[in-house]
Order: sequence, then structure tokens, then C-alpha cells
Amino acid sequence: MTEDERTSGTAGADLLCVSPHTDDAEIACGGTLARFSSRGRRVWLLDLTRGELGSNGTPDERWEEAARASAALGITGRLQAALPDGFVSAERPEQVAAVAAVIRSLRPRWLLAAPVPRRHPDHQAIPSLVRKAAFMARLASWPAALPEMRAWPPQAAAIPPPTASWICEAVLTVCAPGERPNLYVDVTASWPAKLAALRCYATQLERAAGARPTVINEPAFLDQVERWSRAWGFQAGVPLAEAFATEQAPLLEDLPAERWV
Ligand SMILES: [Zn+2]
Repeated sequence: MTEDERTSGTAGADLLCVSPHTDDAEIACGGTLARFSSRGRRVWLLDLTRGELGSNGTPDERWEEAARASAALGITGRLQAALPDGFVSAERPEQVAAVAAVIRSLRPRWLLAAPVPRRHPDHQAIPSLVRKAAFMARLASWPAALPEMRAWPPQAAAIPPPTASWICEAVLTVCAPGERPNLYVDVTASWPAKLAALRCYATQLERAAGARPTVINEPAFLDQVERWSRAWGFQAGVPLAEAFATEQAPLLEDLPAERWV
């Protein structure tokens, strides 16, 4: 498929959000995922690892939590690959191929990289891995096979085989505090769904007796997540927002309904 032929292709998903571990997408942009889902958009998540190096919770426990969180968000489907936790990298061709193959299979209009906070090396690697995979997914001469994945709901395992090529309309990265966004999403109405999804991650976000202390099971962490969205919301003129950056610009055919902030 050439770039000119893209418009004749049919998108299989509206949005695909890629993150390293379960709970990353919900923390970074769960309000956006829930909001777009509530509007009938086909929203998919891809967790790249099973989180086997996590301080708390087994990969199976974390996957069960992710399934419940996915239902709370109202998304269409969730996939989880088994890339090596702690070693997510844009420099490893097999990792780029795994993400590119999922892009070619789900054929999303929008692709999101969700790495907030940025302390973990996998989070630092995600934006460049996602941008590279989005580019490589275009190149029909570059083969990419689907990796082994878990799927929620179970029928999501039956995703179509990858097309030879797919071009995402937009590739965006969730902004960390202090970064300069060029797109906000009002998540005020979907905030309860985001919180409901986050509360599914008891092994990660609750400091139960015997749990190893981490940044995200610190009792004040969820307050911090809300403060980030209140700060973006203040900039956007709404109570709560999530913020995104992209190197692209939209091509308009008319004045948009959205207001500028
Ligand atoms: Zn993570």
C-alpha cells in the first residue's frame, strides 16, 4: 500500500494505546481512553510486558487486574505481549516488529504512547519505540509477525492478521508534568471511570501489609495523579484534562467544533 492508498484502507480501531506495563495506560491517560470509549470509539490497549520485574503482584495477578480495569474503562480490547520487562527498547528489531505487527493488525487511526511517570527505563523507551514502530508499520517490504499475546476479552485474541502496511493518522505521546502539550482532552466526565480502573490495581496502587514500598503504592500517589490532571485542566479551562504532544499538525477542512485554549 502506498501513502496515497491509505484512504482506501479501513481502520480496524480508532485508537491504540501502547504502554510497558499494566496500569501505565490508566495512570497516564485513562480518562481519555474512557471518554473516547463512551463515545463509541474502538479503543485498544497494548501492554508490552507482563510486568515480571514488578515489586508487587505476579504477572497473572496483574493481568487479572488489567482485565477488570479494561472493563471499568469500557474499552474494546486489550492485548499483552511478553517483551522483557525492564528492557523495552526501540533499538531491538524484534520489539519494533512486535508493535508494528499489532499496528498492522488493529489498523488504528490514532496511536498513543503512554509513559507517565518517566522514572522507569521502560517508560523512557516507549515514545521512541512507538514512533519507530508506527513508521516501520508503513514499510511493506519489512516483515512483522504478531508476537504471542494474552487478550481481553478472550475473543479479542481473534484479531485479524497484519496487513502488509498501515499508516496511523496521528502518533501522540502523553505529556509528563512540565512538558508542552499541543492537545488536551477534557476528562472531567470520565474521571470516575479512570478512578474505577485504577482501583482495580490493588497489587500496584495499594500498600497492603507485606507489600514492598514503591512510588505508586505511596498513599499520596493517586492524589498526585489527580493534581496532574487538575493542572492540565487549569491550562485547558476545564476541571480535569489529560495532555498529549505530537510532532504532527491536523489538516482542517473547516473551523473545528473544539475551542482553542
Ligand atoms: Zn510502567
